[in-house]
Amino acid sequence: MTRSHDLFLQAQRHIPGGVNSPVRAFRGVGGDPVFLERAEGAWVVDADGRRYVDYVGSWGPMILGHAHPEVIRVVQETATHGLSFGAPTELETRMADRVCELVPSMDMVRMVNSGTEATMSAIRLARGFTGREKIVKFEGCYHGHADALLVKAGSGALTLGVPSSPGVPASVAEHTLTLPYNDIEAVRETFARLGAEIAAVIVEPVAGNMNCIPPLPGFLEGLREVCSGHGSVLIFDEVMTGFRVALGGAQGHYGITPDLTTLGKVIGGGMPVGAFGGRREIMEHLAPLGPVYQAGTLSGNPVAMAAGLKTLELIGVPGFHATLAERTRTLTEGLAERARAAGIPFTTNRVGGMFGLFFTEAAAVNSYAEVMACDAERFKRFFHGMLDEGVYLAPSAFEAGFVSAAHGEAELEATLAAAERVFARLG
Ligand code: PMP
Repeated sequence: MTRSHDLFLQAQRHIPGGVNSPVRAFRGVGGDPVFLERAEGAWVVDADGRRYVDYVGSWGPMILGHAHPEVIRVVQETATHGLSFGAPTELETRMADRVCELVPSMDMVRMVNSGTEATMSAIRLARGFTGREKIVKFEGCYHGHADALLVKAGSGALTLGVPSSPGVPASVAEHTLTLPYNDIEAVRETFARLGAEIAAVIVEPVAGNMNCIPPLPGFLEGLREVCSGHGSVLIFDEVMTGFRVALGGAQGHYGITPDLTTLGKVIGGGMPVGAFGGRREIMEHLAPLGPVYQAGTLSGNPVAMAAGLKTLELIGVPGFHATLAERTRTLTEGLAERARAAGIPFTTNRVGGMFGLFFTEAAAVNSYAEVMACDAERFKRFFHGMLDEGVYLAPSAFEAGFVSAAHGEAELEATLAAAERVFARLG
């Protein structure tokens, strides 16, 4: 019996499913979750003292690696001055200045405490700004768990969205239209019918919540064109991609300018932070300047701002993202090569410091339907094989993986050597 197993049993007494966010329970791969105790650089250490090379990175924030000494230092220093004031601080201005400098489509930014809050608030703002109610999202994209965004496609010609969770009122879900990712024709058709009622399109510019699916050429460009043509707000949800696929996010990487952007993960350096912002004309509708209400007791928290600002400073050094992308390439190409050698049908996607692994005969995976067609059973066996070998991958076939600046040659080589042994056993 491992200590993780024992801790999991204890956790389940008073925590639903023993976890504070469902994917952590390993339901997608089976078996007990590994309880983590500490982390450093590219490594995490579990409650039984086992070390793993970590490709989850707290689901994206830990782009510098875990417990970066400079980030920890500013967190400790800032904490000694008090944890929260509920009044403005200079750190918030520095953060806003930095974000608007790195992401030129953002003239103004409001800090919040999670990605969910960021997307929920951006949708409310887009609705308040346009005076419209409908929003468009894409199948397989996740934008946090606000009611309006926990919606799946309704049946066929009936475009009304249906709740994807009990507890989401049908009267809320019906305003959310869900279309296939990477299908710009579906977007054009929907706008041709309903364009004047659509407040916003929200999209992950690289989808990272159905494994990792980059946008096909023309998809993001098409969204920009359609939204501009119909007076709808284009929201890039860069909670995952922001400061990760490039310093300027996916919008910088692909050269597309959204109206609003949502951020999270990296911007907090591991502390609970989110943000949304964009065009001045839209942001000026937000309270206290305008009538759209949004607020937060802990928003702009000084310790979180300090961690985020230091992280943005350290990833802003020239060549940071090029190196990250190069390491991600070494990883995905190395894995693909070893899978091929073992005769395992396998392909990968990657953009900057995020990647996806697919057990499939298909040469490319570009849509939710193609992700769903992959061999989930083989992924589970690969996941557990890698875990046994000391490599911690996302415990689900529907999540992107993340490389950090701390993943050096030694960690990448250890990962590829482990994969070679696991592929040989997968057969
Ligand atoms: N948007 C995207 C693209 C995300 O990946 C996530 C979280 N994985 C969220 C929003 C929600 O963020 P949070 O979990 O911080 O609420």
